[in-house]
Amino acid sequence: MELTRTAPTTTTTTTTTTDNGRRETPSLPARPRAWSARLLEDPHALGEMARHAGGPFHVLHAETFAENVRGFQNALLSAGVDGHVLYGKKANRSGCFLRACVDTGAGVDVASAPELNHSLAAGLHGEDLVVTGPAKSDELLRLALRHGALIAIDALDEFARLVTLARSVRPARVLLRVLPPTDPHSRFGFDPDELDEVLERAAEARTVVEIEGFSFHLSGYEPAPRAELASALVDRCLAARTQGHAATAISIGGGFAVSYVEAPDWDRFVAEHDDGDYHAGRKPPRHYPYHQEPAKADMLAAILGHRTGGGPSLAERLSRNGIRLLLEPGRALLDGAGFSVFGVQGYKRRGGTSDDGREYGIVTVDGLSMSISEQWKGSEFLPDPELWPRAPIVEPVAAAVGGASCLEYDMLTWRRVPFPRSPQYGDLLVYPNTAGYQMDKNESRFHQLPLPTRFVAEGSADQGAIPTWRPER
Ligand SMILES: *Cc1c(COP(=O)(O)O)cnc(C)c1O
Repeated sequence: MELTRTAPTTTTTTTTTTDNGRRETPSLPARPRAWSARLLEDPHALGEMARHAGGPFHVLHAETFAENVRGFQNALLSAGVDGHVLYGKKANRSGCFLRACVDTGAGVDVASAPELNHSLAAGLHGEDLVVTGPAKSDELLRLALRHGALIAIDALDEFARLVTLARSVRPARVLLRVLPPTDPHSRFGFDPDELDEVLERAAEARTVVEIEGFSFHLSGYEPAPRAELASALVDRCLAARTQGHAATAISIGGGFAVSYVEAPDWDRFVAEHDDGDYHAGRKPPRHYPYHQEPAKADMLAAILGHRTGGGPSLAERLSRNGIRLLLEPGRALLDGAGFSVFGVQGYKRRGGTSDDGREYGIVTVDGLSMSISEQWKGSEFLPDPELWPRAPIVEPVAAAVGGASCLEYDMLTWRRVPFPRSPQYGDLLVYPNTAGYQMDKNESRFHQLPLPTRFVAEGSADQGAIPTWRPER
């Protein structure tokens, strides 16, 4: 979830130029996925979906999600660590990913009563849920207790309410969320003194509260701070056991890195793009690092292999001390598992031409920038949207993308994206890899517009077959 400032690139990159020496409009192609590439190559599939939807739509692929889950599970296995992957549900609303959690044995990290109910309805057991989020309502705590979910407690008053509820409902399974020493201004978690206090109170309430361990969620995408805090919490678990607590689990939260684009494309783009490549000069002041290493399961492997001060690896410390590692990836499980499609409503020229001779313009689509959430953090989702149907380069243009509302700032993309021809009414505009936080986190019914339709695609496309699709209910 963290936005980082552009990291200085270590490679020396030169500006890409055309044959006649003019600067090319920067582009940032997304890493392709077999399943979505097959759908886009097919001459009919996307058009049929568009007719069916009658407006913008999202296409989801639960098999890709399941593959990502298995990647994390294999990293745990290879490191010899007992662990549990719990999907951070807030990153996407769709039920198809919950059923993939059931199929792969993953749990779900929920933060509201509707998220908890949705997970149960999809077939998850209460014990496979962890309830996070600050200052949870009594309603949510009661539901979590009833279903035997693990509850991450964030503050002393919340703990007191939980104890009262647990006396009348059922003993509570608790993780204590820790304020990270590397992130002292976080509004979440207990500081060390509060942690001592809550552990004492928990010891007094032992008949109704089981302290299963500790949790945290860090911003940034570095493996080392996670490994070091987890290692410190191994010591916390051992100390808590002397007070009679079970202390057998540590949750390292989510925030696993994702690579949307290949390294050379990213390095080139970051070195090249400037204010002039954006409508109204609106180059985003900060953005997600769209290429990262190590990412996803490789990042988990790096965390598990990390040694604090030349000692044993985190993996060794966890298994030697009988501690289960919980992780709550959201974005990383959704990598490659969905894309978003908007209908082109119009195109108009705006403001001259680029150095490589492209006419500048603005495309207006039939959806809202709320479906590309990065704009709502004052940033921009940078991987290139693609025009469909695909066409050979005729008269290339560079165009920003505006939404269907009457708001000046309702822009899906401020960047002037290179297109092979001018977009026209009836074309589709495809945004790649939007399942993690982009497609539905900020969606609203502004202007009384309906929310985008959701389709679920099935079939891996490995043998070249076109995935089948159906509306998600
Ligand atoms: C948001 C959140 C996650 C998921 O984060 P991602 O960046 O999507 O992996 C996991 N745990 C907690 C406590 C969170 O707040």
